Amino acid sequence: MSINSNEIASLIKAQIKNYSHKIENDDVGTVISVGDGIANVYGLDNVMLSELLEFPHGVYGMSMNLNEDSVGAILFGNDSLIEEGDIVKRTKRVVEVPVGDELLGRVVNALGQPIDGNGVIKTTKTRPIERIAPGVMTRKSVDTPVETGIKAIDTMIPIGRGQRELIIGDRQTGKTAIAIDTIINQKGKNMICVYVAIGQKNSTVVQLVEKLKAHGAMDYTVVVSATASELAPLQYIAPYAGVTMAEEWMEQGKDVLIIYDDLSKHAVAYRTLALLLKRSPGREAYPGDVFYLHSRLLERACRLSKEYGGGSITALPIIETQAGDITAYIPTNVISITDGQIFLQTELFNAGQRPAIDAGLSVSRVGSAAQFKCIKQVSKSLKIDIASFHELESFAQFGSDLDESTKRILKHGNVLMEVLKQHQYSPLTFVDQTIEIFAAQERYLDSLEKEQISPFLEGLKVFLKKDYKDLINNIQTNKSLTDDDKKMLAKGINEYKETF
Ligand code: ATP
Ligand code: MG
Repeated sequence: MSINSNEIASLIKAQIKNYSHKIENDDVGTVISVGDGIANVYGLDNVMLSELLEFPHGVYGMSMNLNEDSVGAILFGNDSLIEEGDIVKRTKRVVEVPVGDELLGRVVNALGQPIDGNGVIKTTKTRPIERIAPGVMTRKSVDTPVETGIKAIDTMIPIGRGQRELIIGDRQTGKTAIAIDTIINQKGKNMICVYVAIGQKNSTVVQLVEKLKAHGAMDYTVVVSATASELAPLQYIAPYAGVTMAEEWMEQGKDVLIIYDDLSKHAVAYRTLALLLKRSPGREAYPGDVFYLHSRLLERACRLSKEYGGGSITALPIIETQAGDITAYIPTNVISITDGQIFLQTELFNAGQRPAIDAGLSVSRVGSAAQFKCIKQVSKSLKIDIASFHELESFAQFGSDLDESTKRILKHGNVLMEVLKQHQYSPLTFVDQTIEIFAAQERYLDSLEKEQISPFLEGLKVFLKKDYKDLINNIQTNKSLTDDDKKMLAKGINEYKETF
């Protein structure tokens, strides 16, 4: 008896057709291949994008690629436990993280699970990690400052609550230091902080948490950590998890500060995923939607209007550059998404100018609307003075016979650079900043030697707080300087200078 190949094929086809009819449950799929934190799954016909998937052995995953005949999923657990042929179940829920006040003081992973060894977090609420950002009509422009406590930032590159300000610079230029000092300075300022660590060393994150604890800053902070040793999928979702926690507080009308440290490593994690998911690579091998990766994240930072509770999320993303190149792909993307950038320079850092903020390349596009009036009054010509100093500085290297006015600009510039130096973990109040910048800009320091400036300012602040209490109170409550205040301040400085 002979059967030709066509008949065999049609028999098999009929069998397959009947077989597939028998499976009525399309909420289950089978693993076709697995590796590098990625699984390809057959079935799951009705799965949603970003849906949480349940694999065997307690491993969870998230659907990323919805292909015609398979689903590409990223895994949040150990992929070596998963094998070809394993059953995958739908959960019919988009990936969610726990939210609420219970998270404060804790260190969690990208799924919101505790990793600080302090036991379970008894949250009662969860939220999906992806959400459409608040629309224009629900927003309001910034009107309250985020006081970083860092002189150079609060005076020249002020940040408002609800703003997105990028911190950008090469490796080891003090990027994290700015973020941490800002968190420490939020004590007693009604601000909740979320620090998201992406692709950093475990030891760095541990040290950072210790520092925050030592300064009493963990009481109002949650740390979301996806370190370099963790899978790319966790590093990819960590910032979304962080902003989801922040949104819960924002909707309760609270102000939140979120730091993404750093988004360069986030982009790299996403590139890894995209390549493994066989998405086509574009410029610098990043997938075509890498701009959307960061824009949809940063768009979720905003200031809500009164009717919507008036809460805010201020975002400080961090980007690491290579040899100061801010024109590379990811840096230009994030610069264009944010409302300004704080640019840190290796040359300044190595020359001892710390924080190493480049006043010329740094900008805050909206923050000055929220700046305290007294700081605005004293610092209005600061940026220009520093710029003209840098311009003359390079000329002055060539010639020795400089005219008087050039010498004065150089001297004053040097004084300003000295005044703007600030140690880590020593944030200044806006009153202190006002006094220091006033003294510098009214040229009271130009006659001092470089080494005398810092001790002079320290002594001056102590003196004024003791002998000029009324003046200090005025500045503290009115947040501005009247003509009388200015006269008093000048008098105080002169008085102190005589004793110095
Ligand atoms: P990385 O690229 O490794 O993340 P980074 O740019 O985040 O580095 P930091 O870790 O913040 O840089 O700082 C680098 C070093 O400089 C640290 O040892 C820190 O203590 C020191 N540093 C940062 N800011 C200051 C400052 N204002 N005064 C003194 N030292 C500082
Ligand atoms: Mg860092």
